[in-house]
Amino acid sequence: MLICDTHADTLWNMVCPDRPADLPCDVTREFLTACDGVRVQALAMYIPPRGMEASPTFAERELAAFEQLKREGWHQITEISQAVRGEANVMLTIEGCEAFKGSTDEVDRMADLGVRMGALTWNTPNGLCTPACESKEGGITPLGWTIVRRMRERRMAVDVSHLNEAGFYDLLDGGAPPMASHSCVRSLCDHFRNLTDDQLKQLFRAGGFVGVNFCPSFLSEDGKADVDRVIDHMAYMCDLGGENHIGFGSDFDGIEDWPVGLRNASEVPNLIEGLRRRGFGDALVEKIAGLNFKAYMERI
Ligand SMILES: [Zn+2]
Repeated sequence: MLICDTHADTLWNMVCPDRPADLPCDVTREFLTACDGVRVQALAMYIPPRGMEASPTFAERELAAFEQLKREGWHQITEISQAVRGEANVMLTIEGCEAFKGSTDEVDRMADLGVRMGALTWNTPNGLCTPACESKEGGITPLGWTIVRRMRERRMAVDVSHLNEAGFYDLLDGGAPPMASHSCVRSLCDHFRNLTDDQLKQLFRAGGFVGVNFCPSFLSEDGKADVDRVIDHMAYMCDLGGENHIGFGSDFDGIEDWPVGLRNASEVPNLIEGLRRRGFGDALVEKIAGLNFKAYMERI
């Protein structure tokens, strides 16, 4: 079975200045290769506030960390079809498109390095768009559109996790559909990072994709979650037309609390077992586990 996860902050953990060196990562090569199945893990270059002012920039540090992983035997892919059983297949992505420094040349450079997805913003306004934590108003800026157009030309997925509603709807313009790499259902947990029913329906109709986030505070308002709570969000999205448009977007190494049964990348098979237990048929389980994301990336 193909198992894809569209967001983890492992590269950030490797370069984060205040992370204790002995704290283990949620995503390791051992975890990804332990389970039977073909694993694909997106690894984001997360750009912290002022991260592009530092020298070397955090994007450069995370690129170096990615190169280090490759030397240790991780397998970089740019198409899901390149994923190999028994390998830690990793796809390079960006969280915070200020990494492009406002330049289409930099989009090209990142595309040439294998970046296949970019979240326009994290939680800081960056001249391209407005994050969801700031305001619902304020769509994609003219510079934002210049970057989005180039990303689309380079078949880079435009990721709307962290983006506000105005920017989200701007991106449903009939061009390549966007995706949300790590977001959940607002109706089940009222958090600004989650998507409303209308957003979900329109995203599914447009051919987009949502990776469901494992962060307990995005899953339940009391901040408590288990595997079944993650599945509640998946079932809800299926009812809104998401059967062919959803998957896993763990946010591993970016979250500081985990659902019971999903402590790290080695426990993702528990989610697959949970889907089966809930009565999802084999074909639907395979779609959610990885085939939907593969189809999305082929579509754009
Ligand atoms: Zn995030």
